[in-house]
Amino acid sequence: MSAIVLDGVETAAAIKAEAGVELQRLRAAGVVPGLAVLLVGDDPASAVYVRNKTRSCEELGVRHETKRLPAGASTAEVAKVVEELNRRPEIHGILVQLPLPRGVDAERVLDLVDPAKDVDGFHPENVGRLVQKRPRFVPCTPAGIMELLHRRGIPVRGTRAVVVGRSDIVGKPMGLLLLHADATVTWAHSRTPDLVAVTREADLLVVAAGRPGLVRREHVRPGAVVIDVGMNRIERAEDARQLLEPARFRDFERRGHALVGDVHFPEVKEVASVITPVPRGVGPLTIAMLLKNTIRAARGAQGPADPGRVDSSYPLD
Ligand code: NDP
Repeated sequence: MSAIVLDGVETAAAIKAEAGVELQRLRAAGVVPGLAVLLVGDDPASAVYVRNKTRSCEELGVRHETKRLPAGASTAEVAKVVEELNRRPEIHGILVQLPLPRGVDAERVLDLVDPAKDVDGFHPENVGRLVQKRPRFVPCTPAGIMELLHRRGIPVRGTRAVVVGRSDIVGKPMGLLLLHADATVTWAHSRTPDLVAVTREADLLVVAAGRPGLVRREHVRPGAVVIDVGMNRIERAEDARQLLEPARFRDFERRGHALVGDVHFPEVKEVASVITPVPRGVGPLTIAMLLKNTIRAARGAQGPADPGRVDSSYPLD
């Protein structure tokens, strides 16, 4: 058996198209959604992520600007920029690109972002709302995965779901969304003894560990749905030989590097019923949800009492 490979690009395009319709409606009402990205330091991966996000904004017609600060910026300097962005009405969404340099207190900075502009969903108020199942903004990667499952008709209710990883950005909110969708959820992490025994329980396995090829054939129950969040750059030929299928290995030989997930794709696709690839899996969905959240923030800013308030079906409304 070979798994159905879910193309995240296709679903992302559908989400963006819907966001585009909403955008036109807002424009007709005189509102142009605006996203500000704050990039501190010179981490090359962060620069690529920011470029991808702003390029998608351009494609859709969301106004964007990137504020850059040097790696040596202080917490106070970063905080000042966030506060300025909070005050500007034409900025509806603020995204602080992580990781921040070591010298910057990330928690303090994220706490300062106006919760009604927190399109990444990292502010404690938005996290609390998610926990209570009355979300405003949901972190983009897990929200995108829920959209993917929903749009591809993959059932969540009543399933045993295992999330490998418990970060605030991916693992924790992922488990909460699955719980709210009536899965029975287990979180696994680096201190979980016998990971294989835990992951083999899963009907639905979401892996967000940042460890290339961590999940092998033996981790997966035959027929399970496997969602691979990992984005790892590999440069060693022995890793590439182990983790890549022949066509991608030839590509690796040309470029000298490749992007792989946390799931050993060639092995796991032989046992899973459905699998997301890396690249072209979860990554594009993250950006689509960022655009959706930004448009939602702009719409919320129009609304009366509680800006950004959304109904409990989010992110699937
Ligand atoms: P973090 O490093 O913050 O968290 C990793 C989590 O995985 C931790 O909870 C850690 O456990 C757990 N973990 C690490 N090693 C193991 C192991 N051997 N067995 C079980 N659990 C383990 O990473 P993120 O959550 O930010 O990201 C995870 C991955 O997803 C990365 O590859 C990242 O690049 C990718 N990513 C992809 C996105 C996309 O758009 N596709 C967006 C965001 C992230 P513990 O808590 O005990 O340390």
